[in-house]
Amino acid sequence: MSVLVTGGAGYIGSHMVLALCDAGHDVVVLDNLSTGMSWAVAPQARLIEGDIGDEELTLNIIEEHSVDAIVHFAGSIIVPESMSDPLGYYLNNTVKSRSLIHSAVKAGVPHFIFSSTAAVYGNPKTVPVTEDDDLLPISPYGTSKLMTELMLRDASIAHDLEFVALRYFNVAGADPKGRSGQSTPQATHLIKVACEAALGKRDHLQVFGKDYETRDGTCLRDYIHVSDLVRAHLDALSYLRGGGESQVFNCGYGRGYSVLDVVGAVERAAGLDLDVRDAPRRPGDPAEIIANADRARSVLEWRPRHDDLDLIVASALAWEKHLLSRNS
Ligand code: UDP
Repeated sequence: MSVLVTGGAGYIGSHMVLALCDAGHDVVVLDNLSTGMSWAVAPQARLIEGDIGDEELTLNIIEEHSVDAIVHFAGSIIVPESMSDPLGYYLNNTVKSRSLIHSAVKAGVPHFIFSSTAAVYGNPKTVPVTEDDDLLPISPYGTSKLMTELMLRDASIAHDLEFVALRYFNVAGADPKGRSGQSTPQATHLIKVACEAALGKRDHLQVFGKDYETRDGTCLRDYIHVSDLVRAHLDALSYLRGGGESQVFNCGYGRGYSVLDVVGAVERAAGLDLDVRDAPRRPGDPAEIIANADRARSVLEWRPRHDDLDLIVASALAWEKHLLSRNS
């Protein structure tokens, strides 16, 4: 019995593979290495380079490795990129997920865990947002993920497949043992960009919009440490293997930090002032998105351990320093 992790060479996927291997699971990784790095894959896991849209390949992997659970990370994750390339996002995140789900159903894989996103809510009417609130994404990224949730819902009703979709809020930080972290070149996510600026990899940081109706005019996000997010996947795996029914869960801490709060945390961690410049709003950005994660805490018994922005930023900065020394 083994776990197939798609996108296991990417940021969150590589942390999941490390955690699964640490816990003694057999792991096979499928990644096309378009953004992932082969060195980020735990040495105990088997890495297969290929595409989740290749049904012949995924069926073979499932059979050969007796896969009983798929943890599906592979996909495109940048909101502004999805605004300029919607069809690319529907292909990578929706069409190819449909192929993977089809293989899972055909091969009789009973458990499926899906990386969904807070972007499925769009601009929620109230925060913290619960799983039962309206699903009105405002970016093709959010819509592409929501469509996959809906495919899983319908497939799980028709077939012997139970799924958990985890709606991630803003994931940041790195493996506490320093084995992996956010390594993508040309990163766009705030904490990584700010850490790069702190280390001189960029000369300044832009703040996209200071005219939102929030306490300091910048967008509020619920930043969650990658180790806690990975923990939620392990909890979801135990839940499904223990007979749990299909369900959707928010993964966040329930606290909103502004862009300027994050800038302040990075400045504290690095011990310097960043060159911060005002820029226009970025298309597709909701003003405020904060999780109510009561369901994950009660049903999955999820217990986050790194709920601290300074700690998240310090771990992201430590990883950024590591990358700098690797590449020099
Ligand atoms: N952001 C920013 N400057 C940057 C990157 C991001 O002001 O260089 C803002 C962005 O507009 C959003 C928040 O930071 O309000 C979080 O964006 P990120 O891309 O990290 O994650 P998202 O919420 O889009 O998934």
